[in-house]
Amino acid sequence: MDNNQYDRYESHRPRKRVSRKTLRNRRLAALFIIAFLVLLFIILIAKGCSKSDKKGKASKVTSATTITTQATTTDPAITTTAVTTTTLADPVNKSDFKLDKTSVYIEVGEQDTPMVQAYPDGTYEADERWSTGDASIATVDSYGHIKGISPGVCYVTLRSAADPKQEVMIKVTVRGEGTDTSTPQSNKAEAPEPPVYDTEGLTYIEGVLIANKSYSLPATFAPGLETICYSQFQALSGAAAKEGLSIYLQSGYRSYHDQEIIYDNYVKEDGKEAADTYSARPGYSEHQTGLCIDVNTIDDAFGYTPEAAWLAEHAHEYGFIIRYPQGKESYTGYKYEPWHIRYVGSKLATKLYKSGQCLEEYLNIKSEYKSE
Ligand SMILES: [Zn+2]
Repeated sequence: MDNNQYDRYESHRPRKRVSRKTLRNRRLAALFIIAFLVLLFIILIAKGCSKSDKKGKASKVTSATTITTQATTTDPAITTTAVTTTTLADPVNKSDFKLDKTSVYIEVGEQDTPMVQAYPDGTYEADERWSTGDASIATVDSYGHIKGISPGVCYVTLRSAADPKQEVMIKVTVRGEGTDTSTPQSNKAEAPEPPVYDTEGLTYIEGVLIANKSYSLPATFAPGLETICYSQFQALSGAAAKEGLSIYLQSGYRSYHDQEIIYDNYVKEDGKEAADTYSARPGYSEHQTGLCIDVNTIDDAFGYTPEAAWLAEHAHEYGFIIRYPQGKESYTGYKYEPWHIRYVGSKLATKLYKSGQCLEEYLNIKSEYKSE
């Protein structure tokens, strides 16, 4: 019968007797497996996400780089046009120079100096070339001292002498009313005469302290670099910077002992006779007076730079003379040194500049070592 059939069918199925305890265990095991699978699933999804994240980041970086390169290729337009307008775009640094600031806000007569924190490869402090886009608004000297002249906005540029492509601009905003009323740095026509030292053993001729091969200085005379000499040099350097030229101090005051070391080294290298043509014996160096400065590079090549040409033309305005001019070796006792300037005050400096005479020629004195 139907019922029987069913019964029979039922009875054919293998039927184990399962206790409640094992049933519970099986359910637990199943739960564990499900939990495990869910966990696995979550882990896999998480991994997949992080991979696509990385891909996303990578593509973002490449797009950012393309944007930057586009920006750098278009900015020369800013350099050329912006300088003349009053609303200037923010400067773009397309060099490896790193400055602590690329914007400067100063009052008229006030100074500020951006600090160079990193230089491009192969560029050093001595390669800094500062220039201003508008000297009527702000000036800058060879050390990067920016000074407000009149209200307005302009750019100051720092470039590398070693690599002119390395150039960074600083936006300078000068605030204030009227024009610069503070004492101008360059007192061109009035560079005063240097002080007269009251030291025994010094030779003054017509009020000028002489240190050459005929007139020596006592070993104890150690004045340091004279203040007026240094401040006039800064004025000179600042004026040159306005024309985009960098004239910087290479060597100023040297003591008797410093010169002793230098001269002895030259004698060892080249012999006494040769050394005497370009280096002073201790006590005979003008650097011991504190009234002279070697600028830029102590190298004949300096004579061919625009800086040397500017120096020869304008040094007298600030009270300096080119102490050992070309063609005057028989008077000065030294070969041409375009980098060596001596402070004498603008009155005498201008007189010598106009006459074309060197100091020994003008004073009618000699510069010869006494034969030993
Ligand atoms: Zn010198």
